[in-house]
Amino acid sequence: MMSNNSEHEKKSSPGNLKKLKELLHRSDNRICADCSALDPKWASVNIGVFICVKCCGVHRSLGTHISKVLSVTLDEWSDEEIVSMIEVGGNSYANSIYEAFLPLDFTKPTANSSHEERAKFIRSKYEFQDFLKPSLRIVSSKSSSSSKNSFRSSDSVKESYSGLDSNSSAGMVEFIGILKVKVIRGRSLAVRDMLSSDPYVVLTLGKQKAKTSVIKSNLNPVWNEELKLSVPQHYGPLKLQVFDHDLLSADDIMGEAEIDLQPMITSAMAFGDPDSLSDMQIGRWLKSHDNALMQDSSVRIVDGKVKQEMSLKLQHVESGEIELELEWIALVNE
Ligand SMILES: [Zn+2]
Repeated sequence: MMSNNSEHEKKSSPGNLKKLKELLHRSDNRICADCSALDPKWASVNIGVFICVKCCGVHRSLGTHISKVLSVTLDEWSDEEIVSMIEVGGNSYANSIYEAFLPLDFTKPTANSSHEERAKFIRSKYEFQDFLKPSLRIVSSKSSSSSKNSFRSSDSVKESYSGLDSNSSAGMVEFIGILKVKVIRGRSLAVRDMLSSDPYVVLTLGKQKAKTSVIKSNLNPVWNEELKLSVPQHYGPLKLQVFDHDLLSADDIMGEAEIDLQPMITSAMAFGDPDSLSDMQIGRWLKSHDNALMQDSSVRIVDGKVKQEMSLKLQHVESGEIELELEWIALVNE
């Protein structure tokens, strides 16, 4: 589909095309950001999500000032458009922003949803930004042609910041960083059904929530799932809860724990750019009688990243432990 705007010769470098393909093949981008249909072949370049053909139809109807769609296979991409996708970092990061306030019991559209259900959700999500933290809502200017309605962030946060113009950065100032939490496994979790439980983990930071998938009938589940949260300037503890998924009644709680983020964030800030540091310990969260740590947890630089592993003893429950690995990615304020 050589596009009809022939006055605009679009060419992207082979290197960038390869990066786009790599991004598309990452697991979170193998399902549509809006309805979870498999194998999405379209993308909203300014929002930074990969979407299926049905959701693409809805995105188009919103207008390019809200969503500018391109086909991954049919359209030619400019370098700028590819970089824009890479800066957002794909579906899981974009959804951690656009669905930060999605109620836990909210049912997202599925691959089989009707056009109406899909359209209602997509408009709420991107046009009205109903699930976004209120202070982050961006007033989109109808006059701007593209890429003004986007959030930029990624693992290479510095690059994305240098690529920002002042309009689109307005919404980001409140966040000081991104917290990646790898929920590794649980051990000896409590029984909530007849003989076992169907556990999942919910993380809460302020009003943001993220949750893992449900693992069926397993008291020693292995998730190895990475969840992302944006950390505001005035952050409190990260709250972790384990629930038993129940089809017939409300999900039962299987214990909880609070994670103090301060040791990691303050030591990371004190040490500065982790890329310039060799592997070492930079801080520590100490086990005490009033926290859930099973042993002291150190904050380390590992391959230029700030990481912290921890084992938590679940509170307010008969038994249960959770193993996590945190990673802190500071946003540069300029
Ligand atoms: Zn879709």
